[in-house]
Amino acid sequence: MTHDIQAAIESTRQQLRQHEKAYNRVPESVALMAVSKTKPVTMLQQAIDCGQRHFGENYLDEALLKMEALAEADCVWHFIGAIQSNKTAKIAAGFDWVHSIDRGKIARRLSEQRPQHLPSLNCCIQLNVDEEASKAGIMPDDLPELCELIDGLPGLTLRGLMCIPAPRQELADQRAVFAIIADYHQQMAKRFNSMDTLSIGMSGDIEAAVAEGSTMVRVGTAIFGARA
Ligand SMILES: *Cc1c(COP(=O)(O)O)cnc(C)c1O
Repeated sequence: MTHDIQAAIESTRQQLRQHEKAYNRVPESVALMAVSKTKPVTMLQQAIDCGQRHFGENYLDEALLKMEALAEADCVWHFIGAIQSNKTAKIAAGFDWVHSIDRGKIARRLSEQRPQHLPSLNCCIQLNVDEEASKAGIMPDDLPELCELIDGLPGLTLRGLMCIPAPRQELADQRAVFAIIADYHQQMAKRFNSMDTLSIGMSGDIEAAVAEGSTMVRVGTAIFGARA
């Protein structure tokens, strides 16, 4: 039996609307990004056919092939994977958003390489909320400086923060870690008023993310099924 993408998207949307209501969030204030890494174009097309517009991809070469195949569709493309500096030109040229900026060098390159004819690239800084050296993302102490840098770069617009916390089972524990990033986001947004995006929540912690103020959840498994 094939995985029913349409049903999964409908169900995820329904969950978002329920959580918004339960946690006194404005209706429809949490956008749904479909994370389609490793999944074929045919599956993305099914998602597009039921109105999905935001897609997240982690691997550049794979993403570029899909973007080319789906060039006619009205998609918004989000780069959410680790960024090597030799990949920034293609990311800057192809994507609408980047959620995984974690250092100044990458930000400067993306800005320089953003084609002039395109609007500035929407950027989120990836925060290492668990503060473990082995984890991706910038440490909280270094966050203000990177916000300032991105805010001053002409090719970029600083939109917000993103994190991928270590998996936690309990809702309360998931909320506790999202509360930390939400607090940093609030502090930074006071200084940088283009920061309107909190990119938190994946298949396993959507409710906690909505409860703590997510404006965009990044959902892969719950939409497209498990990855090989
Ligand atoms: C893979 C991935 C997701 C989606 O994770 P699921 O658990 O499959 O929903 C979200 N964000 C990032 C950055 C990812 O790499």
